[in-house]
Amino acid sequence: MRMAWEPCDGTEIGSSDRHQRDPGAQDALCAACRAKAAAADAAVPRAWELFCEKDEDGRLEHFYAATRAVEMCGAKLDNIVLARLVPDVEGTLWGWRYSHHPANRSFRGQVSMIYGHEKLVEMCFPYGTKAETRMGHGEIVRLRAEILRPAKKDETRP
Ligand SMILES: [Zn+2]
Repeated sequence: MRMAWEPCDGTEIGSSDRHQRDPGAQDALCAACRAKAAAADAAVPRAWELFCEKDEDGRLEHFYAATRAVEMCGAKLDNIVLARLVPDVEGTLWGWRYSHHPANRSFRGQVSMIYGHEKLVEMCFPYGTKAETRMGHGEIVRLRAEILRPAKKDETRP
């Protein structure tokens, strides 16, 4: 019996370099692509800089890489700061860390969906974060924010 060909998620679309995922692999990767993603995950510094709104109570929300995106949530530029997010088991924020799995494309290594409650991150995923983590797509991270400085107009983090 022949196994059905199931492409590895690390195969570039339109590329002739097609590789097959490991049979039954939950992350839909071959061993080489899995090793590559794991090495990239290990090499990434576990801190991220994003812009966010600091409200009157000092609460931080609406985290984005561009000041424009924070403004689109209703924040005034005067209330936008650049913050560094650092993993912390006592942190008051939760977010999603995208792994270097090829399916994450330009989000690889980034954090996103940052909220003051873990449940709100969970709600971003129709099948829950556990299913995503099983597929190797990322994980929930608990974070603390350190405010670095006020934002300037039209700033973007790489
Ligand atoms: Zn592969």
